[in-house]
Amino acid sequence: MPIRILPEHIASQIAAGEVIERPASVVKELVENALDAGADTITIEVLGAGKRLVAVTDNGTGIPREELGLAVSRHATSKLTRAEDLFRIATLGFRGEALASIGSVSRLTVESRTADAEAGAKLRVDGGGLGSVGAIGMPPGTRIMVQDLFYNVPARLKFLKTDTTERRNIEALATRYALAYPHVRWKLVIDGKPSLQTSGSGDPREVLASLYGVAVAKQMLAVEFREEGYHIHGFISPISLTRANRREITVFVNGRWVKDTAVTAAIIRAYHTLLMVGRFPIVVLFLELPAEVVDVNVHPAKAEVRFREGDLVFSRVQRAVKRALLAYSPMPEIEPRGWWGTARPAEEKEIDPAWRMTAEIQPVDEPETVPSQPRIHIHTGEEETGGLPLLRLVGQVAATYLVAEGPDGLYLIDQHAAHERVLFESLMAQQGEDQVASQALLTPVNVSLPPEKARTLAESLPVLAGLGFEVESFGPNTFTVRAIPALLTGGDPEAALNALVEDFEEDETPLASAKEAMITARICKRMAVKGGQSLSGEEQSALLRGLERCQSPRTCPHGRPTMIHLSADLLERQFGRRGAR
Ligand code: ADP
Ligand code: MG
Repeated sequence: MPIRILPEHIASQIAAGEVIERPASVVKELVENALDAGADTITIEVLGAGKRLVAVTDNGTGIPREELGLAVSRHATSKLTRAEDLFRIATLGFRGEALASIGSVSRLTVESRTADAEAGAKLRVDGGGLGSVGAIGMPPGTRIMVQDLFYNVPARLKFLKTDTTERRNIEALATRYALAYPHVRWKLVIDGKPSLQTSGSGDPREVLASLYGVAVAKQMLAVEFREEGYHIHGFISPISLTRANRREITVFVNGRWVKDTAVTAAIIRAYHTLLMVGRFPIVVLFLELPAEVVDVNVHPAKAEVRFREGDLVFSRVQRAVKRALLAYSPMPEIEPRGWWGTARPAEEKEIDPAWRMTAEIQPVDEPETVPSQPRIHIHTGEEETGGLPLLRLVGQVAATYLVAEGPDGLYLIDQHAAHERVLFESLMAQQGEDQVASQALLTPVNVSLPPEKARTLAESLPVLAGLGFEVESFGPNTFTVRAIPALLTGGDPEAALNALVEDFEEDETPLASAKEAMITARICKRMAVKGGQSLSGEEQSALLRGLERCQSPRTCPHGRPTMIHLSADLLERQFGRRGAR
């Protein structure tokens, strides 16, 4: 085939593909334009997961009537005049291609009015074809409607994920921009229902609560770091609050949400050795750097940036996070040492005296308990023991471990892991026999979740019902818990629901049975007694009896050991009794 120049409409669809990948990309571009226009009220409406409609309304500067046609043309921007400007960009947009791209793959309507105009002006673009400009009554600002996205590129429609995932992407995007711009009043309405609404008070913690829930927002530690024109600020989770993946690490660079593996790595490194392997913090970090050290023109959707002084950025990020962590964290645990003879030389950890002074114990993430109720419940009945010998309880040490004696030596039992196992097997057994005992709460508890999580929870309500929870949805993103499994009486219903919705993979659809087990395991982990809680004598023996009845008493549902066995033989050898005399 000879070389030909592509017809304009094909060329623009190709170009559009780089910028507009999915409905959330449309939301991103429109929101960025509204922010660039200085808006302090931004409303996003979505229908049909953004495929039917994305509309963004703002109260920014507006577009003059005579510039409407230009606004939707490729390479037309009001934000850049000279090539040098590219290297000190202060606006989110600069390429002048978003509206043109969107217009070539949808039916686009732009309505806008500047403050000094008598009326608004309206322009329609249909698959790249421009209509004529008409007049419209409207307040100053801009309203952009994108209908039937990809209607003329059916191949792209096929690449979209499920509606749930596309909606979740939009919600994730809107909530993160709301965090980065707390002075803006944000509203996200999905299928007519408000999904996110902020007051524009400027308080990021308020937005944090709508993103992660009030309980998490309260625990988040503030980062505030300034050095030579760098300002690094935001929020990080204490070491007691973690996630199973790094997806909850959000980084903004000069007001732009970017994916930067190196910055993410620097953040994780700041937590080094403080988190268990495979656990990651929740972080929302804003990097404000001099414009000339950041190249924002390296990615089609502007989702990545390049730093001129990469190493400096990473070391400052690491220090900023570490400093915030150390300022609030409890004293580190001294390394565990084998105390029965194989002791390694004591290695003292270096502790910064300033840190020692300011160390503050974080509230332990433990379920609220009603004091009169025992925290450990086991179901009675004739069951086989799962390979554990009968144990005699000796007592509790360090409010964390049970000590027990068996016919063949000593057992040290991790009370949290053991309780997790007992709860898990009991709940699964009841569920299998379809006789889950439920306990009504004296006062129903309302739980609010961020929109992404609320959706996940709504989808899991049948599984929860099967487990003995009585949960109903109550207004947008709010649920009422009326009853919980009898086994979990005294536990915190809110913690249980949160456990369920954390870290769900996108489109994660395990087999129904596996899903139940996973959800049950998560809830049990949250509801089990924690290390550091002292247990009454009855509670200790109930836990021990429960463990004896388990099918797999030696590991928790997540596979960690529940106990260490020191055999009589090992003790004899360690004390030099064997073979001596
Ligand atoms: P860019 O943002 O890179 O300039 P866009 O295609 O997104 O390119 O927008 C083109 C131009 O249209 C912008 O430069 C701006 O002048 C104008 N514009 C777009 N959206 C808005 C808005 N919401 N309010 C005011 N002006 C806008
Ligand atoms: Mg733009």
